[in-house]
Amino acid sequence: MKTLINEEQLGEGIRRLAAEIHKHYEDKPLTIIGVMIGSVVLLADLIRLLDLPLRVELVQARSYRAGSTRPGPLVINVELLSRGIQGRDVLLVDDIFDTGHTLWELIPQIDELGPASVRSAVLLWKEGRSEVAMKPDFAAFTIPNEFVVGYGLDYHDRYRNLPYLAALEPHEIEDQATNNPAGNNA
Ligand code: 5GP
Ligand code: MG
Repeated sequence: MKTLINEEQLGEGIRRLAAEIHKHYEDKPLTIIGVMIGSVVLLADLIRLLDLPLRVELVQARSYRAGSTRPGPLVINVELLSRGIQGRDVLLVDDIFDTGHTLWELIPQIDELGPASVRSAVLLWKEGRSEVAMKPDFAAFTIPNEFVVGYGLDYHDRYRNLPYLAALEPHEIEDQATNNPAGNNA
């Protein structure tokens, strides 16, 4: 495992991201929607850095099968939203923009609920990997195509606790696709 973004760089990037978001919305009310599970650590930091009237919500999107770094079928659950978002500015927060399918499929589902605007913010953007016709509106870091862990991102339920971001070495990844449809995470 090698460190990709150390704790200090990570802190700076997140403060920069929060400042950009704040500048964009100024002091307008905002609904921030975290895409579980990988984004919860970022979400917790953004909540503490954004000094504006903020509603916090969660949705779930899962595509990674347990034991694999390859995506499985995407399952999105917007029923977790507890309050309406009609007429509100909405910011979706996710950990990584990789192929982009998660946000690409999630945004129309959010749009159907009648928000004033929908934008997206991600911690990491794996540039060049996108398979969809969109880009995240805000991204703290662009990174090469490596499997990253730490700061909320896991592999086999491990490493979410790391206070920095690391990339797994190829020999650390047992990438056999499992036939375990029940066990996926994101
Ligand atoms: P996308 O739909 O953009 O391909 O993938 C988005 C989701 O895949 C991310 O929210 C994240 O949950 C998962 N993912 C993509 N790349 C990585 C990675 O390098 N490490 C980890 N732990 N998860 C990843
Ligand atoms: Mg995710």
